[in-house]
Amino acid sequence: MSGQTKRFVIIGGGPGGTTCATYAARLGAEVVLIEKDIVGGAAHLLDCIPSKAMIATGGAMSMMKRAAEMGLAKVQVELDFEALRRRIQGIETHLEDSVSSLLESQGVRLVEGVGRLTGTNSVAVDCADGSTLDLEADIIVLSTGSRPRIPEWAPIDGIRVLTTRHSYPPPELPEHLIVIGSGVTGVEFVHMFSSFGSEVTLVVSRNQVLPGKDPEVAKVLEQSFLDRGVRLVMGARAQSIETSDSQVTVRCDDGRVLTGTHVLLAIGSMPNSENLGLDEVGVESERGYVKVDHNLKSSVPNIYVAGDLSGKLPLSSVASTQGRKIAEHGMGLHAGPHRHLDYDKAASAIFTDPEIAEVGLAEVDAFAEGRKVRVTKVPFSMSAKALINNDIRGFAKIVSDPATGVVLGGSIVGRHAAELIAVIALAVTAGLTVTDLVESLFVHPALTEILGEAAE
Ligand SMILES: Cc1cc2nc3c(=O)[nH]c(=O)nc-3n(C[C@H](O)[C@H](O)[C@H](O)COP(=O)(O)OP(=O)(O)OC[C@H]3O[C@@H](n4cnc5c(N)ncnc54)[C@H](O)[C@@H]3O)c2cc1C
Repeated sequence: MSGQTKRFVIIGGGPGGTTCATYAARLGAEVVLIEKDIVGGAAHLLDCIPSKAMIATGGAMSMMKRAAEMGLAKVQVELDFEALRRRIQGIETHLEDSVSSLLESQGVRLVEGVGRLTGTNSVAVDCADGSTLDLEADIIVLSTGSRPRIPEWAPIDGIRVLTTRHSYPPPELPEHLIVIGSGVTGVEFVHMFSSFGSEVTLVVSRNQVLPGKDPEVAKVLEQSFLDRGVRLVMGARAQSIETSDSQVTVRCDDGRVLTGTHVLLAIGSMPNSENLGLDEVGVESERGYVKVDHNLKSSVPNIYVAGDLSGKLPLSSVASTQGRKIAEHGMGLHAGPHRHLDYDKAASAIFTDPEIAEVGLAEVDAFAEGRKVRVTKVPFSMSAKALINNDIRGFAKIVSDPATGVVLGGSIVGRHAAELIAVIALAVTAGLTVTDLVESLFVHPALTEILGEAAE
C-alpha cells in the first residue's frame, strides 16, 4: 500500500464500476477505472437509457394520436427515424460526458482498454493505444456487466435479426417485428415498436407474458397488447430463424411457423467473464457469474464484484448501490453493524403502457409460500387524477402484515407506476405501516392519493 492510501482498480465502467469509483475516491482512495468501450456502461448506452428514451418517443406519439380524447383538434404525427437516432445519440453523449466529468472531478484515473486479473492484487490492461499496462491494487472490483444471450440457432445480423443492442433504433423501422421472449425486456420492446406503428408478434413460451409475475398484472398488459393489435403466440418456443431478402421465418417447437420482416431476440443475458482471469486467480464462479458474499466479496477476499456479474438482481439501480457498498466496505466503513443490501426490497419497473412497478413481497409469492397477508387493491378508475389524465387503466395493490399492519410489498399497474412505487418502496424499507400511508396527506388531485386508499 502507498502510505495509508488504498488503491482500487475497477474493471468495467457501468453503473456498478463508476459508482464504486466515485465513492471510493470521495472516501480517499486512489482509484483507477478501466473501461474498454464507453464510460457509463451498457446501462447508459446500450440498455436502460436508450430503450427508455425510445419508449418515451413512442409514448409521445401515442398520446398525440389520442389528442381528440383530450379535447384537442386531431394532430397528424409521424415518426422521423433520423431525428429519433439523433435524439438517442444526444442523450448518450450527454450521459457519457456527465459521468466522465464526475469521475474526473473526483480524481479517478480513467484507462481506456481491456482489463484482466493477473494475480490477487494485480491487473493487466490491453490499452486502446496498443500498449499494455500493469497495475497493482489493494482492492479489485470486477464490474464487467452482461450482454444479450444469443442461442446458436439465431443468425443475428443486426439488420433483420436483432438483439436489443441493435435497436436504438435499428437500421429501418420493422414493418412486422417478431419478438422472441416475453420477459421484462421482450414486453418493453413489443410496446416500443407497436407504438411506432410496427405490426408486432410476440412469442410467449409459457401461458402468460412476464412469466413468474403476478398473473393479474400480466393480464392487464396482455389486454393492452391485444387492444393495440399485437399478436400473442402463447405456449411456443422459437427453435430456428431463417432469413431471405425481405422476410424472416421463425419456426416454433409446436410446429407453428411465423413470418415477419424482422426478429428481435430478448431471451436473457450472459455474464462478461470469459477473459477476466477468474480461474487463474482462484475466483470462484458459477455459470460465469462470480460467487459473492453479502458484502459482495468473491472467494478472494480483496476482489469484489458489482453489478450483473454478481448474478444478483440485474438492475442498474442495484449495480450502483452495490458499487457504493463495495467502496464503503473496502474503505473499512462497515466494521461495525450496518445495513446489508436487501435485494428483496428493490423496486423495479417495466416501462410498458400501462407501466408496471413492484417492490417487496408479491401477493403471488406470499400465496405460494402459504404466508398469511392482507392484500388491498384500488383501481385507477377511482382516482380523479387518472380521469383528468384520460387514463383509468390499472390498479395499485398493497401487501401488508395482517397482525402489525407493516407494509411488505406492493404492485402498481398504470400511468407513472415507476414513480408511484417509490412511496411503497420507502414504506417497505423503513418498516412503515398501512396506517402511516393512510394518514399521509398526499396532494389532491394526484395519482399518489390512490396509495393512501389502497392502504385502507
Ligand atoms: C434492454 C435492457 C433494458 C434495461 N433497462 C433497465 C432499466 O430500465 N432499469 C434498470 O435498473 N436496469 C435496466 N436494465 C439492466 C441494466 O442495464 C444492467 O443491470 C446494468 O447495466 C448493469 O450494470 P453493470 O455495471 O453491471 O454493467 P454494464 O452496464 O453492463 O457495464 C459494464 C461495462 O464493463 C465494460 N467491460 C466489460 N468487460 C471489460 C473488460 N474486460 N475491461 C474493461 N471494460 C470491460 C463494458 O464495456 C461495459 O461498459 C436493462 C437491461 C437491458 C438488457
